[in-house]
Amino acid sequence: MQFNHDNMTGVMLAADLANMTKTAAPTCDDVQELFIAHQIRRPDVSAGAREEILDWGRRLHSVFSQRDITRRCEELNDLLGRSATRMYLTSHDGLRPHLHFMRDDDDLVRRIMAVTAGSLSLFLVESEGLRLGACARESCSKVFVDTSRNGRRAYCSPRCGNYDAVDRHRSKARQRPC
Ligand SMILES: [Zn+2]
Ligand SMILES: [Zn+2]
Repeated sequence: MQFNHDNMTGVMLAADLANMTKTAAPTCDDVQELFIAHQIRRPDVSAGAREEILDWGRRLHSVFSQRDITRRCEELNDLLGRSATRMYLTSHDGLRPHLHFMRDDDDLVRRIMAVTAGSLSLFLVESEGLRLGACARESCSKVFVDTSRNGRRAYCSPRCGNYDAVDRHRSKARQRPC
């Protein structure tokens, strides 16, 4: 699968935002730093915006975790209907033409909602509904975008994969009769 880099910004932001909702009480600054890292323009996060954005992040987390493709699409459609109000092509800042899903002068919350839902939708068209996932390690609640060659990624990170292998080895050892 070829990934469209202009679109991937919004997809990666969606994953990071979803994961941020699983960390202990993210502050306005935490959220703002995340937006700066993803090159979101005018990223100032007020207390009210923080609440709305984290609510949205929880909904995104559910889209990533949903294994049933039909239901995943329904959940995302719901988010899309609330957010992507205006779609147009743009080539701002010398970038290749890409889609924006909102008006440039929309407030931060609306822009974040639109870019995450819009980008995830384009991504799911290309990935045939696949390649979003939740970490297979039981104690981990992170979600991820699977950009691997074969699209069979199970863990959010190599670290979780290693820990899980150790855990499984231990529980097998425990089951062995003495
Ligand atoms: Zn843009
Ligand atoms: Zn994990």
